[in-house]
Amino acid sequence: MTVLIAGAGIGGLTAALSLHAAGIDAVVRESAREIRPLGVGINLLPHAVRELTELGLGDQLAELGVSITEIVYADPRGRQLFAESRGLAQGYRWPQYAVHRGELQHLLLAAVRERLGADAVRTGTRVVDFAQGPEEPAGVRVQLLDRDSGALEETRVSALVGADGLHSAVRRRLRPDGGPLLWSGIRMWRGVTRAEPFLAGCSMAIVRDGDVELVAYPIGGDRINWVAQVKVSEPGPLAEDADWNRAGRLTDVLPYFEHWSLGRLDVPELLSGCGQILEYPMVDREPLPAWGRGRVTLLGDAAHPMYPVGANGASQSVVDARVLARELSAADDPAVGLARYEALRREATAAVVLANREMSRTEAHSKSAESFARMTDTYRNATGSDVAALNARPSLNAP
Ligand SMILES: Cc1cc2nc3c(=O)[nH]c(=O)nc-3n(C[C@H](O)[C@H](O)[C@H](O)COP(=O)(O)OP(=O)(O)OC[C@H]3O[C@@H](n4cnc5c(N)ncnc54)[C@H](O)[C@@H]3O)c2cc1C
Repeated sequence: MTVLIAGAGIGGLTAALSLHAAGIDAVVRESAREIRPLGVGINLLPHAVRELTELGLGDQLAELGVSITEIVYADPRGRQLFAESRGLAQGYRWPQYAVHRGELQHLLLAAVRERLGADAVRTGTRVVDFAQGPEEPAGVRVQLLDRDSGALEETRVSALVGADGLHSAVRRRLRPDGGPLLWSGIRMWRGVTRAEPFLAGCSMAIVRDGDVELVAYPIGGDRINWVAQVKVSEPGPLAEDADWNRAGRLTDVLPYFEHWSLGRLDVPELLSGCGQILEYPMVDREPLPAWGRGRVTLLGDAAHPMYPVGANGASQSVVDARVLARELSAADDPAVGLARYEALRREATAAVVLANREMSRTEAHSKSAESFARMTDTYRNATGSDVAALNARPSLNAP
């Protein structure tokens, strides 16, 4: 069996590693001509760290990331409203890591090339179409575009996984009625700034003033990752395109934070000291009633784009990848394996999409420590990330 994965993001690369570990051949085709360390910080929650550890990447992750031990909610004068342990300190057997997205992607890419071969990931190659059915009884015919030469090429594989992100071509083809990107009405400016550590040095801080919010956490190498979020509109379909790497302007974001004074974390200085600001509308999509068809399926953001408020996007794509590999390896027919994968992951990830929406609404109104505690508890329950349950769950390793 050979599986073609569209997209060398965190989900696609983890899928390649997971399939390889399960004894299944995989190739990755990536549209970008070069995999550059794009993005800023992301969190890997304990359920994802567990999966990457079981893929043999635990030590490398520990070197790359900062183990986050607490989350602190505060007001713009620096008064703490609520704090809760995170990762190992919360009782999980695996840490929560804050990492630079691009560095994590490069770690995964190096592992794929080392384990699956130098040619396993081909860049500059976009998946544009596929065909399956009576005319392709033994698999899927995938059409690829070589972006340099403009040539179209066809390849036959046993299964196709669309891990091609927010604007997934595979999803569009599978589910043309899947609906538009939905904007929360929140604009996000993101950046990484060299700065002194704050709080415990491994804390995530969330500071809110009405519709204005700042999230900050360290990602190693004296770098603080920050996300400034401002609600500027009512939610609705997104009129413009959403691009994670669009340049943002300090003059647009700084005025919202100029009066903030958080003690050790100087917010105006944090924002002003950033080399490159990125801007991204906070979007998701309505969960789909079905992902795949036959030997074609979706994974990660292609399947279930979500608000980043729960820090769960990359983590859910990692779990998708591991379940996908386990179910494919257990089934004689790839279509059956993919159907089982979808049955296990579609509703579980839809719950995370909806919990993230709910949390983005609740956070703005939470006032007391009790309401924060209720909110984080509800989120954990809704997203299946209960400490005892994760610690006790059997491994997702393919048998
Ligand atoms: C450039 C970039 C920067 C990001 N920065 C952040 C960040 O700072 N913080 C954060 O929380 N999240 C960020 N994200 C999103 C985050 O990476 C995802 O939510 C999460 O990791 C799940 O990833 P994924 O693998 O499903 O999709 P993605 O990470 O979006 O990866 C999808 C990959 O598929 C490729 N692709 C797209 N179309 C095709 C096609 N037709 N054929 C082949 N390949 C295709 C894309 O080039 C991309 O490499 C970023 C995503 C991208 C693409």
